[in-house]
Amino acid sequence: IRTTAIRDGDHYVLNGQKTFITNGLISNLLVVAAKTDPKADPPYRGISLFVVEGDTPGFIRGRKLEKIGMKGQDTAELFFEDCRVPASNLLGKEGAGFYYLMEKLQQERLVCAISAQAAAEAIFDMTLQYCLEREQFGRPIGKFQVNRHKLVDMKTEIEIGRVFVDRLIVEHNAGEEIISETCMAKWWITEMLKRVADQCLQLHGGYGYMLEYPIAKAYLDVRVQTIYAGTTEIMKEIIGKRMGL
Ligand SMILES: Cc1cc2nc3c(=O)[nH]c(=O)nc-3n(C[C@H](O)[C@H](O)[C@H](O)COP(=O)(O)OP(=O)(O)OC[C@H]3O[C@@H](n4cnc5c(N)ncnc54)[C@H](O)[C@@H]3O)c2cc1C
Repeated sequence: IRTTAIRDGDHYVLNGQKTFITNGLISNLLVVAAKTDPKADPPYRGISLFVVEGDTPGFIRGRKLEKIGMKGQDTAELFFEDCRVPASNLLGKEGAGFYYLMEKLQQERLVCAISAQAAAEAIFDMTLQYCLEREQFGRPIGKFQVNRHKLVDMKTEIEIGRVFVDRLIVEHNAGEEIISETCMAKWWITEMLKRVADQCLQLHGGYGYMLEYPIAKAYLDVRVQTIYAGTTEIMKEIIGKRMGL
């Protein structure tokens, strides 16, 4: 984080920029992480959170970034140029922003795992239906053993994901500490979703490559899921560190 928020009387003055911000163009209330103490050691102790209203002078929305998928939400660059935010817009305590993020990012990761699980189930269901309907060489394509096994493999992984994510929802709602498990679910289920989307597109043949078929759009939407809300590699880093590695 390089954006700074320096106290000046009753205000903090924000300078910096953010990239890849979901719904940045339509947002009217933003939570911004910025460094209130750029010299803090360790650096994470100098991070604070601010609520910034969309019409604050010095807050500038950049261009809408062109993505390969997820067209239903904009992704934007945001700029803060001497953006004066009332000190009362500090969220929680100064210097505690990183701790708040660590707490809430878990929830974001869990939500990601849940939506990836739901997407895998939906993509699979539509593909199973297609494999039962589409006939080649005198029978539905799902009846070829190679495809039947592919569908069974996917169904098995999807069931494993469902059991895991259901367990985490219960534990999260009970207030349990499930940081490692949530990171595991985030990386494993989103990677599983990628495999499912790829194989399901293959099972649709040439039609799967056409955007008029939902599987094509799903394939494009799915790709980002192992990247945003923390990449697969970063999830593994968090888990590894918590294992003492
Ligand atoms: C569509 C979209 C929407 C987004 N929405 C938001 C949003 O609303 N708010 C927000 O704050 N962010 C948002 N992001 C940002 C997103 O969280 C980041 O893109 C993501 O965390 C990866 O960071 P990066 O792009 O800087 O990649 P980098 O950090 O540059 O990583 C590049 C590659 O290197 C790997 N890598 C990096 N560090 C390590 C390491 N220590 N060990 C091993 N491998 C490593 C990564 O895993 C990745 O494969 C969004 C991104 C996208 C694409």
